[in-house]
Amino acid sequence: MESSNFIESIINEELESGKVSEVITRFPPEPNGYLHVGHSKSLCINFGIKEKYNGKCNLRFDDTNPTKEDVEYVESIKEDIKWLGFSWDQELYASDYFPKMFEHAVELIKKGLAFVCDMTAEEISATRGTLTQPGTESPWRNRSIEENLQLFYDMRDGKFADGTKVLRAKIDMASPNINMRDPVIYRVLRAHHHRTGDTWCIYPMYDFAHPISDAIEGITHSICTLEFEDHRPLYDWVKINCGYVPGPRQIEFARLNLTRTIMSKRYLKKLVEEGVVDGWNDPRMPTLSGMRERGYPADAIKDFCSRIGVAKANSEVDAALLEHCVRENLNQNATRVMVVKDPLKVVIDNYDGKEDCQIPNNPTKEDAGVHTCTFSKEIYIEKSDFAEVPPPKFFRLKPGGMVRLKGAYIVEYLSHGVEDGETVVHVKMIEDSKEGGANAGIKVKGTIHWVDAKDCVPCEVDEFDYLLDDLNDGRDFSLRLVKDSKTVYPNAKAESFMKGAPKYSSYQFMRNGYYVVSGKSTEEKPVYYQIVGLKDSYKK
Ligand code: ATP
Ligand code: MG
Repeated sequence: MESSNFIESIINEELESGKVSEVITRFPPEPNGYLHVGHSKSLCINFGIKEKYNGKCNLRFDDTNPTKEDVEYVESIKEDIKWLGFSWDQELYASDYFPKMFEHAVELIKKGLAFVCDMTAEEISATRGTLTQPGTESPWRNRSIEENLQLFYDMRDGKFADGTKVLRAKIDMASPNINMRDPVIYRVLRAHHHRTGDTWCIYPMYDFAHPISDAIEGITHSICTLEFEDHRPLYDWVKINCGYVPGPRQIEFARLNLTRTIMSKRYLKKLVEEGVVDGWNDPRMPTLSGMRERGYPADAIKDFCSRIGVAKANSEVDAALLEHCVRENLNQNATRVMVVKDPLKVVIDNYDGKEDCQIPNNPTKEDAGVHTCTFSKEIYIEKSDFAEVPPPKFFRLKPGGMVRLKGAYIVEYLSHGVEDGETVVHVKMIEDSKEGGANAGIKVKGTIHWVDAKDCVPCEVDEFDYLLDDLNDGRDFSLRLVKDSKTVYPNAKAESFMKGAPKYSSYQFMRNGYYVVSGKSTEEKPVYYQIVGLKDSYKK
């Protein structure tokens, strides 16, 4: 099998040498927030390997930190993974292994490889040493096995207050790797767990729980992000000393960072809690649920992940690349329609009829066909497509000028003024100037979109900016928040073709960009979200 990255090369070698026969990966989210676009990279790697090698991939909730976790997150994570089109083999929970982890901790104590320590978290961190200096051994390090066992059972039985005792692995306080300096593997914590309730008042630490969970499930390749590289010796230590040999192999890759994008659940949660955004699925959020609301096609996100590839060096990817993938996908798939965001009434003085005009559904596809919209005496165009005092090179409607209406006639300016409190432009239509007509060839530089005033859908159009400004100078996210990241056009008008368009379907609004029928639309008032603009700012 050809490998497309270093992880697949490792797997290929192991398959060839017979070290593994079946490839089993897992995606291990902590249910403490919604998934973001960074997670999609990990999802694509883990599920991509499952698909490529005809192996397995489990969804394992890494729920060992009860104070921050919630079932709401469990549900959202499952929904988002399904939306991306991945299916897991087993849905598992690290908390289901709590009894097994406890047993392993007891085994370590019996082997003299773990001890109960009475130091506070502050004392432990103060005695850990630095990169250049070894740590100092805990005064409790040499407790007898019997004493440790009794104390650990007492920890489990609730005899000690939170934070007063921990179980530590007895490894090496002088190790050059700080993670190996007698790391804490269990702590006392009275917190209600979303699955185990109040059964436990001690909880295992990530570095202890993770390798054991992987090993129990028979994971062959435990793929994680680069910040865990320094934890690998501890991962292996736990694995070996708990008797899982050869056990899973941890492989690290560089996490995805995107320009102008917050990629931390903790901080995204803050935005939700402080009301900066309207929930985890706000269309401005880089969460998968936000992107789904925003109309990003799941396939475009996967395409993006395959283009950025998998490497071991951290870097920041241009958010414009993601948008480029979204735009490419929609260019192929989105029907073209006319929607006026900020309407200006135009009256065609010399026309009293009503007729159908044809709009090509998608010029990139030969067989996409056309749909019709009506043309009559009163239409709307964008306010910005008319200029009383036009700037140079303004080829839209202006005093003394002509403009072509997409799919319909060429019109010529007559007058404008305020009627019933509303600005109205009067024009005359040029007979036979529709496509194919005798006057269609008249030289007119501009073509604008429009909708029939009597036959259109009143709607709202929402457009979004990035949440962060583009000055990444190391300032805290909160100082980089863009003030007005949402623009609302409450009086927009869509051509009647859009009547009844299903939620989450996407369209190209000609000359404006790609838009999705938002989830907050109602039958009376559709709300369209801008997905991306038409202009591609991605530099290859
Ligand atoms: P956060 O810091 O946003 O909370 P996390 O790493 O703590 O992220 P987890 O729920 O532990 O989030 O992540 C599940 C999996 O997704 C892990 O294997 C993690 O390495 C991976 N992951 C998280 N963020 C990224 C990212 N930006 N790029 C690639 N993979 C990621
Ligand atoms: Mg985490």
